[in-house]
Amino acid sequence: MMEITAEIRALIDKAAAGMELAGDEYIDPADGLIHCKKCGGQRQTVVPCFGKPGYFMPRCICQCQREAEEQRKAAEERQRRMERIKRRKAQGLQDRYLYDYTFANDNGQNPLMDKARAYVENWKEAYRNNTGLLLFGDVGTGKSFFAGCIANALLDRDVPVLMTNFPTILNRLTGMFSEDRADFIASFDEYDLLIIDDLGVERSTEYAMEQMFFVIDSRYRSRRPMIITTNLKLSELKNPPDLAHARIYDRILERCAPILFDGKNFREENAGATRQAAKDIVNSKQD
Ligand SMILES: [Zn+2]
Repeated sequence: MMEITAEIRALIDKAAAGMELAGDEYIDPADGLIHCKKCGGQRQTVVPCFGKPGYFMPRCICQCQREAEEQRKAAEERQRRMERIKRRKAQGLQDRYLYDYTFANDNGQNPLMDKARAYVENWKEAYRNNTGLLLFGDVGTGKSFFAGCIANALLDRDVPVLMTNFPTILNRLTGMFSEDRADFIASFDEYDLLIIDDLGVERSTEYAMEQMFFVIDSRYRSRRPMIITTNLKLSELKNPPDLAHARIYDRILERCAPILFDGKNFREENAGATRQAAKDIVNSKQD
């Protein structure tokens, strides 16, 4: 702050006469300006008028006010971030059951889950290098759970992820005008990671194949990663039945690192556990 001369001090004192103070303020006899009772810092300063003689004494904020303001802003940002994450989850996880596909719910039986954790840990690199995953193997081996855990973990880190499947996409596209279709497919670019669950379960009509190609090709050209899960065998993906399949599979194989799920059937095992639990319940004697 500028030096307070006798002339300036007289002006300050004159202005102070009509000044209303808040409960936590006082006028410091040393400089005649308003200060904060809590931190002792200035709540008022002296500035020369611009372009003409004279001074004015505007209000300013003290250290503790500044800190309180920063804390308020940080709390607001945390709140906004949480709301954004919640909104993104609602958008990105369209099926309710996907909310339960989390590392916290992993029973530790599938050693491949370490790869899912590694993918999340190395997400920035995966995103930069456009590294996707192709999770293939039999039904019930935990591919969707693996992908869902990645989706949830990244969403929790504020990364936009969409986990969907082709029957859902094709359903949405049906009845859209062609320009809306293009917009809808382009909207997938808003997601840093696109997960397509269960590739190959959709009916391969000419229309379906064409739309699937648009989705995969658009993703391919956006140079952003995708994760695909499928019950198809790698040999089926590598030897497609026709050109329509080939141009879809080729792009997936080029961008997605294949991971084979050949473990036991977790779904069957869970079903077994459920059956056992049910048996225990119905057979338990009441005493
Ligand atoms: Zn203060």
